[in-house]
Amino acid sequence: MTANREQKVEDVFTIQDSDCCGNGCTNCILDNKPRPSQRALLAGKRNIILKYTSFRLLQRETHSGDDQVLFLHFGNAAESDDKDDCVLDIPPGHHIMLRIGSLLRPYSPYWTDFASKEFKILVKLQPDGPMSQHLVAVQPNDRLEFRGPIGNYRHDSAVTKCIYIICQGVAVAPTLPLVGQVLENEDDMSRIWHLMCAPDLQHVYFRDQLLEFAKYWNYRSCLYVPHQQCGSDACLEAGHCRQECDELRRSLRYKERVCLHRLEANELKQHVAPAIPGLPVLIIAGDSGFQRAMGEAAAKALGVAQENVYLL
Ligand SMILES: Cc1cc2nc3c(=O)[nH]c(=O)nc-3n(C[C@H](O)[C@H](O)[C@H](O)COP(=O)(O)OP(=O)(O)OC[C@H]3O[C@@H](n4cnc5c(N)ncnc54)[C@H](O)[C@@H]3O)c2cc1C
Repeated sequence: MTANREQKVEDVFTIQDSDCCGNGCTNCILDNKPRPSQRALLAGKRNIILKYTSFRLLQRETHSGDDQVLFLHFGNAAESDDKDDCVLDIPPGHHIMLRIGSLLRPYSPYWTDFASKEFKILVKLQPDGPMSQHLVAVQPNDRLEFRGPIGNYRHDSAVTKCIYIICQGVAVAPTLPLVGQVLENEDDMSRIWHLMCAPDLQHVYFRDQLLEFAKYWNYRSCLYVPHQQCGSDACLEAGHCRQECDELRRSLRYKERVCLHRLEANELKQHVAPAIPGLPVLIIAGDSGFQRAMGEAAAKALGVAQENVYLL
């Protein structure tokens, strides 16, 4: 290797304290530095996102009914000759860092294309949040810089598992590739229990995708929507829709199961099926408060060993 190339490789993998966003992420970049992926190595290509790389916004959509939630679709902005030597590999359960000036924030893609080097993220804008103020104004053709992948989740399809995924709000996004990875592999005998917490059905994202998942034999889901509310007198009086509410039934789609209360860790036992073989694994996706509230209690209720608990 020439001195010049050695220097370049060194630049990609060097992580400094200033690479951390300072938000106390569970999987901080300082402990999980981006590494060359096996998939990219097998393809004989370079993973383009290992160092900060410019991506162009291809499409921007707001979530119907909530203009504070954006779907952003990015594509690699490179125009150089070495474009074809690269791929984009962001493994399921990993996040990437967005940098604007000295401001850094992590985001978790819900869709990635290896060859076309495109990815999509779902963003919930936070009132007065510094990055939200940039993202609210971002428009197609704008360029933003991302780096990654960051994380420690690994799935070995050779080991059959019972995978419990508990997620909250927009954090359902990074769980979609995890589910897809299992269901799309016919040889993977793992089963998935996908439990989603949102205020109401309007804030359950990717419902169409979840319905596609529901066609598989090894997938089950439940939506926890404690603030679902129709306008009927009985539901208004109850403070939320009741399980027998006709309006609620009409708004549910095929195989959708809802619970009209907050998910409590101690009720998770009902999802455990001891007769089903597989190593129990727990994945929790949500903000740090949700991870704290759910983490230990859920692992205990589901009988998951600490080393098999992943906080995204
Ligand atoms: C590993 C990881 C992955 C993430 N992936 C995504 C993602 O895919 N999409 C996304 O929208 N956000 C994601 N976030 C949050 C994101 O990094 C930013 O915090 C968010 O976009 C707000 O940035 P900001 O600078 O505008 O406000 P900040 O200064 O980051 O936050 C402003 C306030 O909002 C709170 N807050 C931030 N995010 C949330 C949230 N999701 N729910 C409730 N309160 C929150 C903060 O605690 C703070 O009090 C992720 C965070 C982590 C740690």
